[in-house]
Amino acid sequence: MTNSGKRAGSTPEQAEHFDVLIVGAGISGVGAAYHLTQQCPGRRFVVLEGLESFGGTWLMHRYPGIRSDSDLYTFGYRFKPWTGPPIATAEEILTYMGEVIDDNDLGQHIRYGHKITRAEWSSEENLWTLDGIRSDTGEAVHFTANFLWMCQGYYRHSQGYTPEWEGMERFEGEIVHPQTWPEDLDYQGKNVVVIGSGATAATLVPAIAAECGHVTLLQRSPTYFIPGRNVNELADQLRVLDIDETWIHEITRRKILHDQAAITQLAFEQPELLKEELLGAVRDYLGPDYDIEKHFTPKYRPWRQRIAFVPDGDIFKGIASGAATVVTDEIDEFTEKGILLKSGEVLGADIIVTATGFNLSVLGDIDFVIDKEPLDFAKTVTYRGMMFTGVPNMLWIFGYFRASWTLRVDLLGDFVCRLLNRMEASGSQSVKVVLRPEDEDMELGSWIDPENFNPGYLMRNMHLLPQRGDKPEWQHTQDYWTERHQIPAIDLEGAEFDYE
Ligand SMILES: Cc1cc2nc3c(=O)[nH]c(=O)nc-3n(C[C@H](O)[C@H](O)[C@H](O)COP(=O)(O)OP(=O)(O)OC[C@H]3O[C@@H](n4cnc5c(N)ncnc54)[C@H](O)[C@@H]3O)c2cc1C
Repeated sequence: MTNSGKRAGSTPEQAEHFDVLIVGAGISGVGAAYHLTQQCPGRRFVVLEGLESFGGTWLMHRYPGIRSDSDLYTFGYRFKPWTGPPIATAEEILTYMGEVIDDNDLGQHIRYGHKITRAEWSSEENLWTLDGIRSDTGEAVHFTANFLWMCQGYYRHSQGYTPEWEGMERFEGEIVHPQTWPEDLDYQGKNVVVIGSGATAATLVPAIAAECGHVTLLQRSPTYFIPGRNVNELADQLRVLDIDETWIHEITRRKILHDQAAITQLAFEQPELLKEELLGAVRDYLGPDYDIEKHFTPKYRPWRQRIAFVPDGDIFKGIASGAATVVTDEIDEFTEKGILLKSGEVLGADIIVTATGFNLSVLGDIDFVIDKEPLDFAKTVTYRGMMFTGVPNMLWIFGYFRASWTLRVDLLGDFVCRLLNRMEASGSQSVKVVLRPEDEDMELGSWIDPENFNPGYLMRNMHLLPQRGDKPEWQHTQDYWTERHQIPAIDLEGAEFDYE
């Protein structure tokens, strides 16, 4: 980790200026910085990160077993080969990102402990002015920038989402959210109930099962999982043949993306078949007598929520061995000693872990102002889930859910650099997206179609997000396989781009 040592002005008049300002040093922000150095050399830029180091999601999450659920051949960048097992721990991802920063000398551009609180655009000056706070000194900091590249992620890091349940205050044990896992939490020999059914719960349960007295996964409804070995046979075979790692990375990525496209197609065209395949794999671990119907058969169609890969089927092995139990039921209330379920069953607990998801954070909780008017993001329409009507010189990275997030970091990295170079070549000071005459009567809807993808944190907060139109240009389609051709082919002279 490196801080450039330079200080932004502490009064608005002394604001330090950059051509491009990137907010966030997670996998998106570090990727953005890399692409700028490669494709827009000479551009003066800074990455401002609220935390004390890089990594974002992978720095903040510290619960036992924390790991990716995507393979790192595609969750890694396209330009930096991944050489480990496909599913990686947070530590391994941080090491990989640290190498990207060091290999490309990006540290000089990153300022840690800089939390941005306000961003104001002036059309008169064609300039963003940003206010923030330094976490080490509490000092106010001010920057100006021509272009804002928002890489702030999509959820609030400081606090996870925990529903309110009756009687929570009566519970005599500890209630913990995985996002703020206490380093010294002692679960040795304790009875632990993990509430949730997503990837986090599925990771946590096998990671603590051996040390707990017993661990119960309590879910209201089941989720789909893909169990499989944590190896990539193709990559390993290519290694035996002594193929260069750069080639292995590219070939393995293509193979994984090819296979994922086939699964996605199957999910839409033959959901029942895919469902049977997924459930069959679970049945292989749990045996014919286990109630798969009740505990592992979701009500929704596969792919409507992210399908978590379970390396080596570890959660299923834990259940089969008796170290972990799954209970599918609803919570009636918390009691002094545990949880009373709607069925009347009581789950005793010393520790309750609420693996119940995120709080969406729209644009890093920054107050946005456009020409002195507060920006209501929900009133804007999104251009391909990356730019917004009425918001000039700004792009945010919102990745994929059905494919690895980072695929979009690379795709949009190319796009931003192309846009910036186009603007420099023509002397344009600003660009904003506008609805074309043929878009004026377009039907607008919520950010994402719930029929297509509907995780809880999006459903709870859809009203805060920009609107979507009924054409691919005005949506985040979540379709990498189409976008990988469409985004490089975007005509920057199209009527949807308004330059000044
Ligand atoms: C436990 C977990 C596992 C996941 N696994 C996968 C997976 O396997 N595959 C996948 O594709 N996706 C996964 N995701 C989704 C994941 O969050 C993204 O893939 C990716 O890591 C997001 O990267 P990011 O850089 O866009 O955002 P983040 O990782 O959230 O980083 C954003 C950074 O911006 C900083 N920031 C935010 N606001 C401000 C501000 N106002 N001022 C300054 N700095 C700010 C934050 O401090 C943070 O460091 C997972 C998410 C979680 C929580």
